[in-house]
Parts: sequence; C-alpha cells; structure tokens
Amino acid sequence: MRPTLDASPLAHSLPLVAPACIDPAAAPLGSGIAASAAVHKAALPHVLFVDQSGQLGGAEFALLQLAEHYPSHMEVVLLADGPFRLRLEALGARVQIINDASVSGIARQASALNCLRVLPGIVRQVRAIAARAQAFDMLFVNTQKALVLGALGKALHRKPVVWYQHDILTREHFGRVQLAVVKWAVRLAVDQVIVNSRASAKSLAALTGRAADTAPVVYNGIDASAFNCVDGTDMGMLRQRLGLPEHAWLAGLFGRLAPWKGQHIALEALTRLPDAHLVLVGAPLFGEDAYAQRLRDEASALGIAERVHFAGFQDDIPAWMKAMNVILHTSTEPEPFGRVIVEGMAAGRPVIAAAAGGVTEIVRHGRNGWLVKPGDAAVLADAIGVLRNDPALAQRLAQQALHDAQAEFSVDQYVQRMMDALNKAVKRRDGEANAQTSP
Ligand code: UDP
Repeated sequence: MRPTLDASPLAHSLPLVAPACIDPAAAPLGSGIAASAAVHKAALPHVLFVDQSGQLGGAEFALLQLAEHYPSHMEVVLLADGPFRLRLEALGARVQIINDASVSGIARQASALNCLRVLPGIVRQVRAIAARAQAFDMLFVNTQKALVLGALGKALHRKPVVWYQHDILTREHFGRVQLAVVKWAVRLAVDQVIVNSRASAKSLAALTGRAADTAPVVYNGIDASAFNCVDGTDMGMLRQRLGLPEHAWLAGLFGRLAPWKGQHIALEALTRLPDAHLVLVGAPLFGEDAYAQRLRDEASALGIAERVHFAGFQDDIPAWMKAMNVILHTSTEPEPFGRVIVEGMAAGRPVIAAAAGGVTEIVRHGRNGWLVKPGDAAVLADAIGVLRNDPALAQRLAQQALHDAQAEFSVDQYVQRMMDALNKAVKRRDGEANAQTSP
C-alpha cells in the first residue's frame, strides 16, 4: 500500500502548502513583485555583476534572482563556465566568461607564492573586467575572487564597487593570506558592502575595522511560489517519482558535499536512529570529491549504507524537500546565511539547524524550528527524536516556519532591499563626485 500523509506521524500533520500551482503573474504576491519591479526598473542603475563560479551555490542562486528581475539592466561576467551560465542565459541575461585556468586554481587557503605564480593571469582578468565595466554604472562583485579582481582594476574602470558579502570572514573558513587580501581590497576599493546576514557584517567589522552598520543586511529571498507548485499531500506518490523509499521516515540534508557542511555529523546521528533514513541532496561542487567518497565509505563502515541515499545535485529542491519528514542543517562552522534552511521552512517542513552564524537570525528555537549545537551528532540525533516523537510540535514549528519564510524572506523583499542599497551607493558616489567638482 502506498502511504499517504496519514500513514506517517509527521506527514499527517504536514499538508501545509496549497497543492495548486500558483501563477505568479496572477497571485497577489506575484503582482506585488511585478509592481515593485516596475518601480525599481525605472530607477535602476546599470550593473556589471561579476561572480567567480560557473557552479550553482547559494551566492549564485541569489544573483540569479536579481538577473531574473532585471535582465535588461545588467550583464554578468563569470570567471568560470558551467551550469550557472546556462541558468543565467535562460533568464535572458547577457553573460561573458572571462576565464583564466591559472587563476581558477587558487584555493581558499592560498599562499603568497601561489598568488605570485598566477599574477599574469590576474592582470589579464583585471583588465578584461575593467574594460567591460566602462559600459555600466557600477560593478557588483558577488564572490571574493570577483571582489579582488574588481578592486585591483578600480584605477582603470573608476566605477563604484559594491560587494555582496556571502561569507563569514574568519580563520575557520579562510586562509590568512586570503583574509588579508580581502581586507585590503575592501579598505582601498570597495564603495559599499552589502551583507547577507548580521553575522557576516560582524566578521567584516572585525576584519576591516569598518563599522558593521555601514553594511546593509540584505537577506536572500526564497521563491515561495516554487514550493506552492509542488503537491506534497501524497507523500508516497512524490517519493515514488523521486525514487525514494515510500514508507521510510526520511531526514533530508541539502547542500554541497563539503566537510564544513557536516554531512558526516548526520551520518553519525543516523547510527543512533535505527529505522530512520537520511537523504543527502547535493554534490561536491568545489573539488570536495574526496569528502564525498569519505561519506560513502563511512556509511558502509557504520553499517547504515542501505539507509543513506546519495541523491546528487538536484534542480527540483521544492519537491525533494517536501518528500522529507524533517530537514537537517548540520554545518560545523558558522553558516553565513543558509538558503537551505529558509527553503525547508518554505516547504512547510520542520527544520533542525546548527545554531551559529546567520542561522540564528532565521531560526527561533522552539518557535519556527529547532536549534542544535553544531558538530554534535548525539545532540542532533536527540533533536530528530524529539520532533519524530512529537508530531504536534513538529507541525507547529513547520507552520510557523512556513509563515516566517514567506513573510521575512520573500524574493520581493530581497530584490527591493538590494535595489535600495544599490541606488544609495550610486547616489553617494554621485554626491562625492559633485562635491569634488564644485568650486
Ligand atoms: N541546491 C540545489 N541543488 C542541490 C543542492 C543545493 O539547488 O542539489 C541549492 C539549495 O537549494 C540552495 C543552495 O543550493 O538554494 C545552497 O545555498 P546555501 O546558502 O544553503 O549554501 P551555500 O552554497 O551558499 O554555502
């Protein structure tokens, strides 16, 4: 028999999202976006976006949403080719690839020697980006390599540089040389930093000495309508479509496979939950293949391989999330924001998240989710047990989470706040230029 929601204790309490797919153009939320987008478009600066990645990480999804709303006002430079380019072009965005194999090789823990070796490649990219920037009002750098290249070319392009900081700038995440380079790039060449959370702002202040309140917080937005489009009322049918076990109790962990995302913590927790299954959705995007293999080996060594499902990278995140009983977030280092958390909330599923960084700005423990100590498998297993054994609590959290995701993290708010911040940056720059030319 195929279980419906009624067959699972949690699922019974979770038919939270309207099954019908809402046409964004006809829905009140959609018309809100359209109206505000029209207002923004009139005043929008022409922006050259620069992003180092051809892969689809959180920063790239955030940029895709800007591209979706303003394709005619912008162009995107990517420092590597990949699926991100295809997604941008499908939205009608113009994309240029300015690639240099030697520079792409620089790692997070870059050494001074490495930086010297790739100098000619860096110069080529700096010049190419500066030349493209001439046609725009500003340069919007979306990642750290983009920041450095945009900053180095400032004397050539003389455009305001805006950095959307998606990172917590600490030694837990980055090497000493990389942090020093970022610090000086920001101090010398960045006109405006926009941060994706207060936690990111705090790390910026500690690194650069810039007051945290000089960087507006623009939280990522999540498209609720994409989640409304997935009918999660028949859990069995949904799972069958995705090739997941229909009757199992499923915990889902979404995100690229990387040591600091803590998938190994979830594996360890699973050993304490005899009949639960774990679904890992995501791929090693930035060279973490060894970690991906380690996870598979560990699942076998722990004797849980048949209860761990490696789904790889998936495009239809709303469907995969709605197929879960609970969504886990297990990062062992402070997460700068954590789109996957808000997505889990928008899916109307209870979320258990590691309490550090920007996560604590999204999840309120016991109200719209469940916070746990990062890196502690026993605590994680206990939390999963609590929500599994108390479906009423899980339902309450999920319901509040759904409400909060829609009210506090909409795409409309995200785009609006971003455009406000960009317009302010241009105005400030114009004001400074006028002050310099007036007698
Ligand atoms: N994601 C996806 N498919 C996958 C795994 C993840 O589309 O298989 C998306 C996920 O839905 C989220 C993003 O990748 O929107 C990850 O963003 P997050 O802020 O959670 O982490 P980051 O990549 O920025 O560290």
